[in-house]
Amino acid sequence: MKLGGQILLHTDDPREPVHLAPGALLIDGDRISRVDLGDTHLANADLGGVDTFICPGLTDTHLHLPQFDSIGVSGLELLDWLDRVIFPAEARWADAAYAADMTTRVARQLAGVGTTCIAAYATVHHDAAQAAIRVLGEAGFSGHVGQVLMDQQAPEQLLRPCDQLLREAAALRANGRIAPSINPRFAVTCTPALLAGAGQLAAATGRFVQTHLAETARECEAVRALHDQATYTDVYHKAGLLTPRSLMAHSIRLSGPERALMARTGAIAAHCPTANRFLLAGSMDRAGTLGVGVRVSLGSDVAGGPDRSMVRVCRAMIETAQSLDAAPPTAAQAWDMITRQGATLLGFNDLGVLRTGARADVLVVTPDVPWLASPDPLSTLLYAWDDRWLRATLIGGKTAYSST
Ligand SMILES: [Zn+2]
Repeated sequence: MKLGGQILLHTDDPREPVHLAPGALLIDGDRISRVDLGDTHLANADLGGVDTFICPGLTDTHLHLPQFDSIGVSGLELLDWLDRVIFPAEARWADAAYAADMTTRVARQLAGVGTTCIAAYATVHHDAAQAAIRVLGEAGFSGHVGQVLMDQQAPEQLLRPCDQLLREAAALRANGRIAPSINPRFAVTCTPALLAGAGQLAAATGRFVQTHLAETARECEAVRALHDQATYTDVYHKAGLLTPRSLMAHSIRLSGPERALMARTGAIAAHCPTANRFLLAGSMDRAGTLGVGVRVSLGSDVAGGPDRSMVRVCRAMIETAQSLDAAPPTAAQAWDMITRQGATLLGFNDLGVLRTGARADVLVVTPDVPWLASPDPLSTLLYAWDDRWLRATLIGGKTAYSST
């Protein structure tokens, strides 16, 4: 297959990490077999044209699969929102067939907004978590999906004994390019024994860890009360959960020493600006966090975040940075974050870049605005973005979404 258009290419310059060049991508099986640059190669493309934007599939480093039907219940603080909206929704995953059906729908929605690589949570239900891994793996997605671990401070039907959770989490199996991860929900809903067991499992398996860290003030107080007044990061560090393969969602309310600990251990802060705005959790200081050496990824946090599109999450990231008076990322840096950087942080070096040999996770986008006439086409794409521009999402060279 031949795709023609303006191709998003990556550079080694952190100030200008991506640029556009006209040309064609040739796809053979699940790989990009060739990239031909130059206007002359636009002829005879199977899909695309001179005004088409050709982009790598996007990466979302934090989302909750069972929450996609719960988007948009606003006005609640995090802990109340969990009790009243999220836990009832997650209880439905007791039925693994329901979970599989819902994951199929979610996969369709993800492909429909161009997301092809994810780090995600299932629920406490083992069979449902395994079903979600199977559905996403069979659909060709890349990423990490974990069974949620909770043994306190949640409705009875969503709690499991510590030993059972650790046994079940260890038994999860990969499917295709979806690996099982270790997902203690957060320190509020996990006993020290469960956190320690999760840390041991992470060390033994090398799997990714996903959890939440320092999102709201009330949550931070609860963690101190439940864990002997320890700092939030120390609770995780003591349990062995701060590793270079740990995604710590939010990471908003951290002291200087806590940020330094994140940097030292290599843990990744998964920044979720749309969720922080929606749940009124506050604004994450991305520049300050990066400044002390913490790696920062980007996530939608559906349904804490109401937006499925990572392009709109990028826009919120820039707006949040502007509100903090920090140096906001440029549009080029934002596109890099949700393509190459996101995939690399999740451990996938053959994704997020359009080069020979890379996996053919590719978006074909035809904007209905004259974006190429803009003085900054990448910024125009970001701010004028409309999901209806997406003509096709290819995952591993196969059409996962098509607008026609
Ligand atoms: Zn979350």
